[in-house]
Amino acid sequence: MADHDVIIIGAGFGGMGAAISLKRLGYGAETADIAILEREDDLGGTWHVNHYPGLAVDIASVTYSYSFEPNPHWKHWFARGAELKAYAEHVADKYDLRRHMQFGVLAEGARWDEEAQHWVLITRPVGGGRRKTRTARFLMTATGFLSQPKLPDIEGVDDFAGTVVHTAKWDDGVDLDGKRIAVIGTGATAVQLIPEIARRAAHLTVFQRTPIWVTPKTDFRIPGPVQSLFAAQPWTQRAARRVNSAWLEAMMVTAVLHYKQAKVLNQGAAALAKAHLRRQVRDPETRRKLTPDYSFGCKRPTFSNEYYPTFNRSDVALETTPIRRITPTGIVTADAHGRETSHEIDVLVLATGFNLWDTNFPAIEVIGRDGKDLGKSWRTNGYHAFEGVTVAGFPNFISLNSPYSYSGLSYFMTIEVQMRHIERLFTELGERAATTFEVTAEADAEFLDHMLARMDDTVFNQGSCGTARSYYYTNEGDAVLLRPTSSGSARRAVEEFPLEDYAFA
Ligand code: NAP
Repeated sequence: MADHDVIIIGAGFGGMGAAISLKRLGYGAETADIAILEREDDLGGTWHVNHYPGLAVDIASVTYSYSFEPNPHWKHWFARGAELKAYAEHVADKYDLRRHMQFGVLAEGARWDEEAQHWVLITRPVGGGRRKTRTARFLMTATGFLSQPKLPDIEGVDDFAGTVVHTAKWDDGVDLDGKRIAVIGTGATAVQLIPEIARRAAHLTVFQRTPIWVTPKTDFRIPGPVQSLFAAQPWTQRAARRVNSAWLEAMMVTAVLHYKQAKVLNQGAAALAKAHLRRQVRDPETRRKLTPDYSFGCKRPTFSNEYYPTFNRSDVALETTPIRRITPTGIVTADAHGRETSHEIDVLVLATGFNLWDTNFPAIEVIGRDGKDLGKSWRTNGYHAFEGVTVAGFPNFISLNSPYSYSGLSYFMTIEVQMRHIERLFTELGERAATTFEVTAEADAEFLDHMLARMDDTVFNQGSCGTARSYYYTNEGDAVLLRPTSSGSARRAVEEFPLEDYAFA
């Protein structure tokens, strides 16, 4: 007898969504039936971990939320980080999820026990302590894509004697006022953080290796009467969600997924970003440095009205000469002729993103039937997961952060499709009075072929992406993170995939 029916690893929006689905199906009557294990000290995933200045979502909140749990009281069109954390807490309370959660628990590895027909998971308390073995009939990993902060591979990064902070490990006590500050990185996080830091620093130097496409952000405070309307007439907020989601979907489908057929729309998005840059930055040389040389969409573009004007300030410098090394007192750059320049600083901010491919696929060691190691198999034989959730050889296992799982621009589009997958699968399991499910090798392979064929039209294959480094690409350079179909198609597929694609026993 297993300790739990289901273990879910991760108490962010993905893990909570999975738990809500299971509870809809009748699981979780006893608290121990569902265990949600979380390495952090509270729920909310990325919205608990991240709290750097300027943190906000860049997908409008009417869309970036569960469709079945609208929040009429978003204060801004793009919610700030703290609001999203509060929303996560609200969801946990409303759906009675907290009692299933255990915090400060690090999952290390899981192995399918064929004889006992359950998963055996090894965990240990964060910060040390005794390892523990837990068993569960079903295992679900919901560990997020952007959860392992990446330190830059720059010589001397550990030698800096001043304050060093990574954006995903932000220290709210860090003193920025009147300091000489360097930010390394110009991804979506840096775009939010840089204007905030510039307001407080004596001098800010931004070290850019690759510029990012930035388009205007139509943000505004949602007036009280509109919030009241959303609360009194929920259909109005649903309508706003539909319009906004359709717009995001159109952007994704045309500019990224159908680049081959709709190149002109992709170029239109790039032209919009260039016009935004021209309007907002005075100096032509700075504009040149901030202009990407890869196709729009090769790496995730971002939205901001404040990022570009920051570079008009006399106390902000944009440095594009490559970093040679970090010293105890600052950063040394070296130009093409080897000429070195030293930048003395007090605070070093690493906005250098996340490591996905070495650590997150999968996030823990997962050993399935016949000793098959999921991570090794993915790295050796290629990345695949049926409908972005299940893999042949891994019974009773749902991997929510899988290859080809990310659908659409809002993570909630992905989560809700995955929730529906769980609901169909577990309903069938119940109806057949079966105890195990496993996707067939044929269905798994056929889905991969379908994804690879769809990849042909995308900006990743057809665009000019050579200079766009992004976590979208594996270490081998393949873009296997995003599902190259529309969200509508993903929603239809989850309703229609034949249940014979699974073996039940
Ligand atoms: P990121 O997009 O991976 O950007 C990391 C930055 O650090 C890049 O500019 C990268 O340059 C630079 N970098 C890394 N290593 C370096 C090195 N050794 N030397 C110099 N530069 C280096 O990470 P992120 O900005 O944290 O964003 C990650 C994702 O988080 C976003 O794409 C988005 O999905 C999500 N996010 C979302 C929101 C939101 O509102 N929804 C907000 C923030 C972030 P290269 O490009 O040259 O590698």
